[in-house]
Amino acid sequence: MARINSNYSKLAAGYLFPEIAKRTREFLAQNEGVTVMRLGIGDTTEHLCPTIVKGLQDEVAGLGTSDGYSGYGNSEGIDPLRQAVADLYKGFGAEVKMSDVWISDGAKPDSANIQSIFSADSVIAVQDPAYPVYVDSNVITGRTGESKDGCYEGLVYMPCTEENGFFPEIPSEKVDLIYICSPNNPTGAVATKEQLKGFVDYARKHKAIIIYDSAYAAFITDDSLPRSIYEIEGAETCAIEINSFSKYAGFTGVRLGWCIVPAALEVEDGGAGKLHALWGRRQNTFFNGASNIVQAGGLAALSPEGQKECGELVSFYLENARIIKDCLEGVGLTCFGGDNAPYIWMKTPEGITSWEFFDKLLTECHVVGTPGAGFGPSGEGYFRLSAFGHRENVLKAVESIKSNLKL
Ligand SMILES: *Cc1c(COP(=O)(O)O)cnc(C)c1O
Repeated sequence: MARINSNYSKLAAGYLFPEIAKRTREFLAQNEGVTVMRLGIGDTTEHLCPTIVKGLQDEVAGLGTSDGYSGYGNSEGIDPLRQAVADLYKGFGAEVKMSDVWISDGAKPDSANIQSIFSADSVIAVQDPAYPVYVDSNVITGRTGESKDGCYEGLVYMPCTEENGFFPEIPSEKVDLIYICSPNNPTGAVATKEQLKGFVDYARKHKAIIIYDSAYAAFITDDSLPRSIYEIEGAETCAIEINSFSKYAGFTGVRLGWCIVPAALEVEDGGAGKLHALWGRRQNTFFNGASNIVQAGGLAALSPEGQKECGELVSFYLENARIIKDCLEGVGLTCFGGDNAPYIWMKTPEGITSWEFFDKLLTECHVVGTPGAGFGPSGEGYFRLSAFGHRENVLKAVESIKSNLKL
């Protein structure tokens, strides 16, 4: 008799985006002729850069010839792209070896898959609020108990609040895996080098591993802030870094990411090389590599011309963020983030929950955002606005907020 993995029934999430869609749909059904402006989604909106399009097209054309055809590639990706990623880190002042780089179909799959190389009884620490996949992938694997009052039993929540600048204190108990996302989705906060050093020191002392999601590193404009955890000395012995072409190059639909699993990583029961070998085994068993066409697109994105064009795209979204933040602050709301990240983390007005603010913004202004409570218990009282949008929609949304929001 087949039986289901009952851990799936513990999942409290899956709730956030469907609930947003449902409330929006109901509002539109009751208000014929009204259009809503969406500042809610973490999806890119602007088209691919010309250098990337050419890279993709050339690879497709090549595949149609005997000389240019290729079948299965290495599951870790093509060497020129792995080298280009390593070179990108050199530009940040971080040392990454090409042989430690795995190319993948995205940062979300990597963030979900990486936990499979760790012991089933690992204690997991997550930032609260957090990008849902870190928690959910560990729930599905059985590393937590049931969800009670928005918290899973057995999971260590590291609150990110206004008081700590939305970056957590070092855990007071011993944990094994620590997820850190910087620049952060949803808060838009970026860890400083000192803050990361605190976690690196903790991880080295306790033989813990940090899983560092830097999907928004390209949005950092303040050069004093680290774009990679490998800018911190010793991080190669205790940190895995995951990044993506999704937000940097608009590859949310194209699909391409990377994961760095250094050979120098050490765990309690395995010295240098162990985790690196396990991740290679995992990828070779479950994954046949990212699309060769898409990898050619990624290589084009990291060419000097590609980096220039992608940089302009990032600046465009950051300008959207500035417009949204100026508007919200202009009407008297308190905002965080948005300067080195495409997300603005807004404090809801006194006495209004994040879902109440969602309804208020939708009905009064016809603008859709994301309630902070959907990202974890410490997200209550906050609201996320995304800078991914066509300029004209962003401008319409801010005009409507200025004219219609009743505070
Ligand atoms: C968007 C996003 C990603 C990117 O995931 P892909 O699978 O590469 O599209 C990763 N981490 C965070 C926190 C994100 O917001």
